[in-house]
Amino acid sequence: MLSDDASTRIATVRDRIARAARLAGRKPDSVTLVAISKTHDAPAIRPLIAAGQRVFGENRVQEAAAKWPALRDETPGIELHLVGQLQSNKAEDAVRLFDAIHSVDRPSLVAVLGRAMDKAGRRPACFVQVKLDDEPQKGGCTPADLPALLAEARAAALPVAGLMCVPPAGLEPAPWFALLAKLARDHGLDELSMGMSGDYETAVTLGATHVRVGTALFGERG
Ligand SMILES: *Cc1c(COP(=O)(O)O)cnc(C)c1O
Repeated sequence: MLSDDASTRIATVRDRIARAARLAGRKPDSVTLVAISKTHDAPAIRPLIAAGQRVFGENRVQEAAAKWPALRDETPGIELHLVGQLQSNKAEDAVRLFDAIHSVDRPSLVAVLGRAMDKAGRRPACFVQVKLDDEPQKGGCTPADLPALLAEARAAALPVAGLMCVPPAGLEPAPWFALLAKLARDHGLDELSMGMSGDYETAVTLGATHVRVGTALFGERG
């Protein structure tokens, strides 16, 4: 049954996170599992909520706005994170809908997010996305631009919790995770959003505080 699958998958992922955390001398509850529900509909999401999962992530503002208000009405205490690239014209919607934004990556977005937070009177936690390689299509600021962007984010009163990365596909992820962790330390930031279905245990051993796991919880996206 679908719901049995969901509870088995989530138990497996939670066990692996806990084991990786203990191996690294960390507390398992220092890692937040963000269940990435993009492309999955409410009937696919409900079994995970029934299994106790409360933190979810989406990569599109419009998709999240269509799905989550009703699911939140059914179950209090849902936390929703945005993990995909954010267009400036969606910033106001994003600030109203999400509890955390993992994709802050450029000065123009910092500025509109600051104004949107002032207007909405709520301040979702922000992660600055860093692009550690040079894939042209990918979001993220370069390590060289990070200090200036962090300064702008602080000036705009964005609550910057930490850094986020998506390592290049097909390469060993550990060096990229270690580099992101070093950048966070250098800037006095505590939180690290890194690790997906294929590499979340590696990310946890290297300090991830938020792992973004989709496929390992929901199965392949259609
Ligand atoms: C889709 C997505 C994930 C989850 O990927 P899986 O491999 O399905 O676990 C994590 N982070 C971001 C930014 C994503 O877009």
